[in-house]
Amino acid sequence: MDVSVSLNGLSSAVKDYISKPRQLLIDGQWVDAQSGKTFAVYDPSTGQQIAKVAEADAADVNLAVAAARRAFDDGPWAKMKPAERARLLWKLSDLMEAHADELAELESLDNGKPVTVAKAADVPFSIETFRYMAGWPTKLGGKTLNISAPGDYHSYILREPVGVVGQIIPWNFPLLMAAWKLGPALATGCTVVLKPAEQTPLTALRLGELIMEAGFPPGVVNILPGFGETAGAAIANHPDVDKVAFTGSTEVGKMIARAATGNLKKVSLELGGKSPVIVFPDADMERVIPGAASAIFFNQGQTCCAGSRLFVHEKIFDKVIEGVADVASKLKVGPGLDPSTEIGPLVSDEQFSRVRGFLDSGRAEGATVATGGGTVGNAGYFVQPTVLINVKPEMKVVREEIFGPVLVAERYNDDDLDRIAKEANDTMYGLAGSVWTRDLATAHKMARRIKAGTVWINCHNVFDVSQPFGGYKQSGWGRELGEEVLNNYMETKAVTAAL
Ligand code: NDP
Repeated sequence: MDVSVSLNGLSSAVKDYISKPRQLLIDGQWVDAQSGKTFAVYDPSTGQQIAKVAEADAADVNLAVAAARRAFDDGPWAKMKPAERARLLWKLSDLMEAHADELAELESLDNGKPVTVAKAADVPFSIETFRYMAGWPTKLGGKTLNISAPGDYHSYILREPVGVVGQIIPWNFPLLMAAWKLGPALATGCTVVLKPAEQTPLTALRLGELIMEAGFPPGVVNILPGFGETAGAAIANHPDVDKVAFTGSTEVGKMIARAATGNLKKVSLELGGKSPVIVFPDADMERVIPGAASAIFFNQGQTCCAGSRLFVHEKIFDKVIEGVADVASKLKVGPGLDPSTEIGPLVSDEQFSRVRGFLDSGRAEGATVATGGGTVGNAGYFVQPTVLINVKPEMKVVREEIFGPVLVAERYNDDDLDRIAKEANDTMYGLAGSVWTRDLATAHKMARRIKAGTVWINCHNVFDVSQPFGGYKQSGWGRELGEEVLNNYMETKAVTAAL
């Protein structure tokens, strides 16, 4: 495999962008970190450094929070009419559209994902998120209440922005996660301090430039690349941050929740998953095989709702495994920037080691490799799309989120929906699941039984900005997207006047 798609092939916009050290966005200005420190950003398909970025820590977080506070309390943002906020969000989405190819290329370079996927999914969905959210500022009214307290009153509800919001996002969909977080915060009138993941800060920083170009007032959006233990922890702990929104691992989600207790800031968490894909014997094989493969292999398996546990009725188990393994073995592994690539590298050396560790553990605990199981090439972080069979519920590969292109497949042998659901729900996670059958009643009965925030029927990973997304159990608190996410960013005030 040729893993070295040359950086010379990059567009001049991206080449230019990465050629300069990138700074922090604080109070509308691009500035170095107070410490003067920077950190390196790497190309996951070669492991080579591609850019240098200012490294924020607690001192920069303090400045950014102060700027966000001023913007929230006193700046033009505080007095801005909803229609004007809507126009700014719409303008931002137009600017993103004008730079869509550049954003997709930058995302692919930084994260490793196939540029074709970034163009078809990440970037358009990010744009759509801002467009959808642009519709909300003008519709966020309260309501009047008919109260029965003795006396004569006029009582009504106001919905107000929660204030300064800290947002901490992961590396698997860097631009999209920024859009999912910023869109509703800005629609509701909050101000933001956003920390992208250390592995993938580039598109969030480029988005920061577009945000300034769109005309958002200084301090409304502050973007601080840095490390979780320093910048991230400073945001989660900060006494003047009113709310923190986090997407990432369940382990760090718990740390965020603990850190938030200082000033009891509001918390929303979108965490890990180990989502079941349940295939019934009557399912349409033409859909199941590509569907189950894409459920796990999309984005190199680095998807919180990846269909990573496949449950197939024993009548069709061998056929489904053979089909999924065949798809897996034919997927073209290569650098994200190569337009023919279907599976890119994992995001980082750390993630590469982690996933290899899971493959070793699966084998050591007795799983059989139906396809894949190894790495690809000598440079970069490439893992073969892998299917493991003969797995047992207690194995680490079945219990833990691998976050790589690794599917574990189990067979079941009865028709008792409660029992099947019990097995599928036997996980600490509850983010998503899918059910594959031609029988409508089975499909909807199973949808009710799966303990997860999203259930797909005869499909997986189908997203729309209008659908709420989030987890039951240890997959999180609150919902992203849809009307529902707005609740994360608003306080409810009851006002009662004696007449
Ligand atoms: P993390 O949960 O560590 O990272 C997510 C974000 O949290 C990053 O911005 C990170 O910063 C930040 N962070 C880390 N530690 C702290 C802290 N103490 N306080 C505040 N913020 C913090 O995920 P990893 O990158 O370590 O990935 C590990 C595993 O997490 C993956 O294998 C996968 O299982 C899961 N994961 C799940 C995701 C999801 O979408 N649900 C997304 C990403 C990972 P930084 O990276 O800059 O240090």
